[in-house]
Amino acid sequence: MELAAYADYAVRLVNTEAPGRGTDDLRTTGDIARLLDAVGRPPSRVAESDVPRLRAVRTRLRAVFTDAAEGRPADAVATLNGLLAEYPVHPRITGHDGRPWHIHLAGDQAGAAESYAAVAGMGLAVQLTSLGADRLGVCDAAPCRNVFVDASANRSRRYCSDRCSTRANVAQYRARRKARATTD
Ligand SMILES: [Zn+2]
Ligand SMILES: [Zn+2]
Repeated sequence: MELAAYADYAVRLVNTEAPGRGTDDLRTTGDIARLLDAVGRPPSRVAESDVPRLRAVRTRLRAVFTDAAEGRPADAVATLNGLLAEYPVHPRITGHDGRPWHIHLAGDQAGAAESYAAVAGMGLAVQLTSLGADRLGVCDAAPCRNVFVDASANRSRRYCSDRCSTRANVAQYRARRKARATTD
């Protein structure tokens, strides 16, 4: 796993909540287990106390994306540095499945929330510093407020998914057609 790929942990955690829709998929230890499964993390002991802890990390990570996307990179970096200091990461070189030596990020000694926060923060830090803070985005297709990392070649990504991109295009098309109809 490339270190940058760990940013997916941050993206998936933030996107467990859809503030524009009022839904929240991070309420129970089962939700955390599903999140760990989604990122391919081996299941670990998830405690009840991990729920509020991870939700607090989620709020801070969303702020990183929002500040970065809205042109406040220094604020985004300050928040991310806070997370990095609070949740130290444990790198380990591994060479499983006949693959070349590569680094895995872990937090074996810590609980599920600390471990997840450490890995998510480091992954996001790698992406922010290698791609640029302006590559952290928030979906433009309201009410979706999902976050994403724009790794596209032309820095043009505006939506979290193809689904949102299609939805936004259809909405724009309808709006244009309606505007034409009223001016005719
Ligand atoms: Zn690996
Ligand atoms: Zn979206």
